Amino acid sequence: MPPRHHQPEALLTTLSTSRGRADRLTHTEHMAARPARYAPWPEGIRPEIVAAAGELGITEPWAHQAEAMELAQSGQTVVLATGTASGKSLGYLAPVLSELLSGTEARNGRGATALYLAPTKALAADQRRRASELAPGRVRAALYDGDTPFEEREWVRQYASYVLTNPDMLHRGILPAHPRWASFLKTLKYVVIDECHTYRGVFGSHVAQVLRRLRRLCARYGSSPTFLLASATTADPAVTARRLTGLPAVAVTEDASPRGPLVFALWEPPLTENVGEQGAPVRRTATAEAGYLLTDLVEQGTRTVVFVRSRRAAELVALQAQEQLGNPLASRVAAYRGGYLAEERRGLEQALHSGRLLGLASTSALELGVDVSGLDAVLMAGYPGTRASLWQQAGRAGREAQGALAVLIARDDPLDTYLVHHPEALFDTPVEATVLDPDNPHVLAPHLCAAAAELPLGAEDLTLFGPSAEPLLPVLEKRGLLRRRTDGSWYWTRRERAADAVDLRGSGGNPVQIVEGSTGRLLGTVDAAAAHTTVHTGAVHLHQGRTYLVQDLDLETSVALVEPADPPYTTSARDITSISVLSTDTTVEWGEARLCFGSVEVVNQVVGYLRKRISTGEVLGESKLDLPPRTLRTRAVWWSVTEDQLLDAVIPFDQLPGAAHAAEHASIGLLPLFATCDRWDIGGVSVPLHPDTGLPTVFVYDGHSGGAGFAERGFHGAEQWLTATREAIAACECERGCPSCVQSPKCGNGNDPLDKAAAVRLLDVLLAGAPGRQVSKDG
Ligand SMILES: [Zn+2]
Ligand SMILES: [Zn+2]
Repeated sequence: MPPRHHQPEALLTTLSTSRGRADRLTHTEHMAARPARYAPWPEGIRPEIVAAAGELGITEPWAHQAEAMELAQSGQTVVLATGTASGKSLGYLAPVLSELLSGTEARNGRGATALYLAPTKALAADQRRRASELAPGRVRAALYDGDTPFEEREWVRQYASYVLTNPDMLHRGILPAHPRWASFLKTLKYVVIDECHTYRGVFGSHVAQVLRRLRRLCARYGSSPTFLLASATTADPAVTARRLTGLPAVAVTEDASPRGPLVFALWEPPLTENVGEQGAPVRRTATAEAGYLLTDLVEQGTRTVVFVRSRRAAELVALQAQEQLGNPLASRVAAYRGGYLAEERRGLEQALHSGRLLGLASTSALELGVDVSGLDAVLMAGYPGTRASLWQQAGRAGREAQGALAVLIARDDPLDTYLVHHPEALFDTPVEATVLDPDNPHVLAPHLCAAAAELPLGAEDLTLFGPSAEPLLPVLEKRGLLRRRTDGSWYWTRRERAADAVDLRGSGGNPVQIVEGSTGRLLGTVDAAAAHTTVHTGAVHLHQGRTYLVQDLDLETSVALVEPADPPYTTSARDITSISVLSTDTTVEWGEARLCFGSVEVVNQVVGYLRKRISTGEVLGESKLDLPPRTLRTRAVWWSVTEDQLLDAVIPFDQLPGAAHAAEHASIGLLPLFATCDRWDIGGVSVPLHPDTGLPTVFVYDGHSGGAGFAERGFHGAEQWLTATREAIAACECERGCPSCVQSPKCGNGNDPLDKAAAVRLLDVLLAGAPGRQVSKDG
């Protein structure tokens, strides 16, 4: 049965006026439609490709696609940063496939090769399908990842002209074995880096170094490939592309694909009767609220996708809607569990497209696996972390001719609270830049070793690896990893493979393996740094959307034994943290207050954990743990105020710990808005009288050895960041602090003490001295 069509305004009115929900809608944004702009095919695109595109219904490319094609053909590093469903693949595939097609006319049939990198295997598989739709069979495209059978790998190395893989495989499988890839690398013309905004933080910094290793080997084989990057819309994509590849890049950002009008609503679930930590009120969860809204939308025949954080939440939303709808509509709602085969995903796409399926609840995994677009409505249960992913998710709604609805439902945390009350932070603010720091010596060191193992490192290589490279080499020599020969070059000295020493997605230390106890199956790994907090004995651990209970964490073997479980609670670790300043790089004075950026040492010990009921957030109990302290050297931003300022702010000494602690929590919650990190990537400490500063001081630090660039972002954007922090606290209507403002789900102290009102006064007195500040005394 065909879907019914609805005006998005009418839909929103129905949602917000029924069941006493009027005050939950905090903002409505109307976004105008955009017509398509086309451009002719650039000259060098082969007629076979143009013909194949024609078969797919594409007679002319959109202007941004054509622009990217031309830049690519001229050998320019280019990043195509446009919205969801704007045809980025065609933009890079047309020049790449044209080149490969011309290469088939070479004597050995492989005069040109290209490499495609995606963050996930599913995406690479999807891309191979797209390439085969556009290119005649003589362009040989092949996947090369951990699942490629060994007997096929040799064929790929010898014959494939378009190899689709991921950065991990490039790092571990291809670069260390480069002599076997010699003929492929020799003719390498293009490197495509898809979804390049996902390479951020420590992972992004690792990928940047892997690409430098690739460039170095290509140069030795006599090739100089052109890098083509595709990204969701981000700020400064050219800068990101340059940081990632080390090459000057041109950005194509003007999206010429058509878009229907979009109504975008911000929505805050109500406070409930339930109480959480320290007796604080709790809001209805974003997933429960999404379940209600999904029910109403499906009842009206609206094709809707709900984006949630975990598979479990996806199942809860779908189940709730099914129960509320009853038959026969219940059967038209489903949860997307991930891990589907390609044809199952296609089936799902079709069911949604035709309207046979009306409601789908999914983790954002959908973003990278299934091509659903042109929906009537998108619900987002919680801010997805960045404006870039917000627009990616919202972009699933809307077709050319008709309007669509997107709703962001706030979760119970300060960032979401801030956003639904400050629409300008979403709608009038450009999407964020991708933060990565390839010069982090902790990231660079293992790649220098890997590079030296691939080919001895000479002086001429050092500029490629950046300014941190030269001072690191003697350190690596001292550690017995590299040795300098008389010709001046550096060699890898060990028997083991240098590339095995680093996991691109980890951040140092032996990662802890998560093993299913009953089957012995390895489910995955977690960072050593995060293991104590996330997979301690007794922890409820979410892994790829599934829920497990940790039976035992063995630190000696770095193994966490888990069993699938479905407890009605989540766990959160309790810890003790101390911090000391190692060096201060930069200080700015805000009146009497000071803001600093520099290096710190954080000592953290997990001492126990709380169990909290999922549905309500209620605390069920606390257990003790016996784990050793861990030391982290990293980068931090910190600020301190004077005693006079405390007097001005009317904060007596007994209120100071609660004020500083509350300000710290909220600022950690808000930093992701300015630094494209997750709140779990950073940590904080507040100290009423810190020995190194002699003053009340709040620290926010990168949770990765050597730093990841997040605290630095906070330092440079401190005024906006801390102003937003103050606003988020003031905007929450709770009386004494709740998870929507100053409570933190990862607080090591059980959210005690926290003083919401004093935190606002403390931030006011701090910000009063900031350069561009007009203090607002209300709220
Ligand atoms: Zn609150
Ligand atoms: Zn805390």
